[in-house]
Amino acid sequence: MTTHDKVNLLDLDKPGLQAFFADMGEKAFRASQVLKWIYQFGVADFDAMSNLGKGLREKLKSVAEVRPPRVVSEHRSHDGTIKWVLQLDNLNCIETVFIPETERGTLCVSSQVGCALDCSFCSTAQQGFNRNLSVGEIIGQLWVANQAMGCLPREQRQITNVVMMGMGEPLLNFDNVVKAMSLMLDDDAYGLSKRRVTLSTSGVVPALDRLKQVIDVSLAVSLHATDDALRDKLVPLNRKYPIAELMAACKRYLGDDARRRITFEYVMLDGINDSDAHARALVKLLRDVPSKVNLIPFNPFPNTTYKCSPQARIDAFRDILIQHGLTTITRKTRGNDIEAACGQLAGQVMDRTKRSLRREQQAGVGS
Ligand code: SAH
Repeated sequence: MTTHDKVNLLDLDKPGLQAFFADMGEKAFRASQVLKWIYQFGVADFDAMSNLGKGLREKLKSVAEVRPPRVVSEHRSHDGTIKWVLQLDNLNCIETVFIPETERGTLCVSSQVGCALDCSFCSTAQQGFNRNLSVGEIIGQLWVANQAMGCLPREQRQITNVVMMGMGEPLLNFDNVVKAMSLMLDDDAYGLSKRRVTLSTSGVVPALDRLKQVIDVSLAVSLHATDDALRDKLVPLNRKYPIAELMAACKRYLGDDARRRITFEYVMLDGINDSDAHARALVKLLRDVPSKVNLIPFNPFPNTTYKCSPQARIDAFRDILIQHGLTTITRKTRGNDIEAACGQLAGQVMDRTKRSLRREQQAGVGS
């Protein structure tokens, strides 16, 4: 059996692993044992799974494997941020970023190779889109990062938070993202609390409603504008799901749980969306949605015409929000010396949308 005929156990969520063992005539508790070996101890070698019994280990070796994405390179920023470039197949690479802070360590995880949305201020968008990541390629990012950081016991583990904020739109890879997040939450796997796993979306409204029905995680919404005309330009998905529909979906997501809030992300673009009037419009828009605001200084990338708002403008914008009672933080730019900051993740995308080609033609490259 060649390696790719074998089942990659990273592709199975807990019910999937239980079914896999049931098919082998094994009891369901084997799934919990194997999850612990893989995710809590970082073990990929069945021979090291000492509570499994020799017969079962041999059987597993013949039909299954633990096959994480291959690390192509690791980049360390002077601020402690680490970026891994991961090879998925012959054509495609993605990026994963670890951001250490005093009280926590956040892993920023990708969900797709490239992105099918075409947000005008995001460098991932420039790369076009190839495909969705498998469950194993998503949860494998945690596995690889944990390995690189020494695979410590849970209390000392460096990854305390996960944000689905890497390359791609997670809600457009719904099933695989949900399965991977269920492993992040499962006590037999990573056991992170639902407050510490955040999915960030540009606002795929029907998928937001489905998400609420199948898993409970924190939600961040990339808003970036307060009126449809501007948001249509920045986040073209807005033409399909305009702001009013998105806000209604956010309220439905929160339901009547008074303790919960949605984080609204707002990229600060000089002269585009950063005036006092925009800030006041944001206050008005968020008046009846329990929320926090995350202001993201724009991170430039080659060929963009946008500029980041000056620091004084970002501060003034933030102060207006705070004066009106909105919890607001300005996201610190991390890892920009290794191109690991928000919107800078590019990987290597074998574009199937021809978008990158069109862009090159527009820019006169190769003519
Ligand atoms: N597709 C998802 C996940 C991407 S998350 C989403 O849209 O939410 C990454 C966050 O960084 C999003 O809020 C995105 O809009 C923002 N972003 C993208 N490009 C950026 C850039 N160049 N500078 C700062 N933030 C950027």
